[in-house]
Amino acid sequence: MLHSFLPQPPTDAAVSGSDVRVSAIHHKPLTTSQVYQLSTFRGVACEFSSWIWDKIMPLRYRVFLWLAFWGRLNTRDNMIRKHWSLLTEHQDCDICPASESASHIVLRCFPASVIWATFHMNDLASSSTDIVHFMHRAQQAWINSRGVHILFAAAAVTLWHARNDRIFNNKRWPPSYLRREVHDEVSQARQKASTMKHRRQEQESARREKLRQAFLKKRLDKLMAEKQASSASDDQPNS
Ligand SMILES: [Zn+2]
Repeated sequence: MLHSFLPQPPTDAAVSGSDVRVSAIHHKPLTTSQVYQLSTFRGVACEFSSWIWDKIMPLRYRVFLWLAFWGRLNTRDNMIRKHWSLLTEHQDCDICPASESASHIVLRCFPASVIWATFHMNDLASSSTDIVHFMHRAQQAWINSRGVHILFAAAAVTLWHARNDRIFNNKRWPPSYLRREVHDEVSQARQKASTMKHRRQEQESARREKLRQAFLKKRLDKLMAEKQASSASDDQPNS
C-alpha cells in the first residue's frame, strides 16, 4: 500500500511552494483520512488487526493484545533482549524450564495448560509455534464461531494478570480461580455483544418507524390536497 502514496515528481505548484501529494494509483490528492490510515496500523497489512479492533472487544484488552501479537510485552525474553539487566538477570519462566515469552505464557506455561484444557484446546495451544499461529488454527477449527478471538483475549489477559501477580506479589492463582476469571471475562464480553445487538435492533426499529411516519404524512398531505382541489372545483358555478 505504501507505494501508492509515493510523492509524484515536483509540479509547477510544488515548485511554487505548495506541497500537494498525489496517490500514484488514484491520481488524486491525498485526503486527511488516507494520511491518518497510513500513519497508523491501517496503512500496513496486519493479519491480526481484526482479532483486536472488534467493537465487542473490551477496550482494556485492545492495547494489551496489540503488544502481545507484536511480541512487545515486557516478558523476560524481551527484557534480556533489551539489556534490562536491572529488572531481570535471566529469561527463564519462574515455574517452567523454558524461556519466558508471550507465546510461552499464553500457550504453554502451566496456568495456560489449565485454561486451554478446559476448552479442549491444549493440544492446539502446545503445538502452535506462537500466538498468531494458534489463532489461525483455532479459527480454522471453529470456523463458525465468531467468538474465538474473545475467548483468546480473555485467556491471554487472565494469564498475564496471573503471571504478574505471581512475579510481583508472590501469589499463585489456583486452577479453579484461573478458570473462573476467564469465564467471567468471556461472560462480560458476551453481555456487551448482546447489549450492542439489542441497541442496533432498537436503532433499526426507530429508523423504520420514522420512514413509516414520513410515508403516512406524505400520503395524508396528498389526500388533503386532492380534497381541497375537489372542493374548489365543486364551488365553481355551473356554466
Ligand atoms: Zn512457564
